[in-house]
Amino acid sequence: MLAADHLPIVETRHWPDEAATREFAARLAGAIAAHPELADAYISLQGDLGAGKTTFVRHLLHAVGVRGRIKSPTYAVVEPHVAAGGLAVHHFDFYRFNDPREWEDAGFRDIFAGPGLKLAEWPEKAANHVPIEDLAIKIEAMSDETRTVTLQANSIRGARLLQGGAA
Ligand code: ADP
Ligand code: MG
Repeated sequence: MLAADHLPIVETRHWPDEAATREFAARLAGAIAAHPELADAYISLQGDLGAGKTTFVRHLLHAVGVRGRIKSPTYAVVEPHVAAGGLAVHHFDFYRFNDPREWEDAGFRDIFAGPGLKLAEWPEKAANHVPIEDLAIKIEAMSDETRTVTLQANSIRGARLLQGGAA
């Protein structure tokens, strides 16, 4: 039974290879498919360059049914996608975010306030703007190429995602 006073929930996972990354993404997608009210979540991804943030996002986009070539937000900061059933998915990469006006002017505030899945790499570069994430994923590449992952659920929605949709 999930209750707000149990939050945040913090778990550490080990992803031995990219298949483990893909499996976790598939589990989140399964939870979203089974429980549409989880689809409006904001999930942040932290970790050094090469940690596997974009790789995770790509697996998640595939798993929720985004088809075709998946472009990454390199210069645009945000790349919008539409998944199966019309679910909107916004993939942010704040690595080059340095103009606070862009938050208002480019409509980022509206995207975060609106429906659909919000995924953000480098949220710390927009720390004064982004809301508290439902689920924060921190990926660390180890010397043997495996990944140590810290998952923090800050909301009931995030906790349910973490538990694969359980109520
Ligand atoms: P980031 O977006 O964090 O800078 P990328 O996802 O672009 O990193 O790159 C991560 C690289 O590490 C990719 O080449 C990916 O194939 C590789 N990789 C190896 N193991 C994993 C893993 N367990 N999870 C994610 N990526 C992995
Ligand atoms: Mg990246």
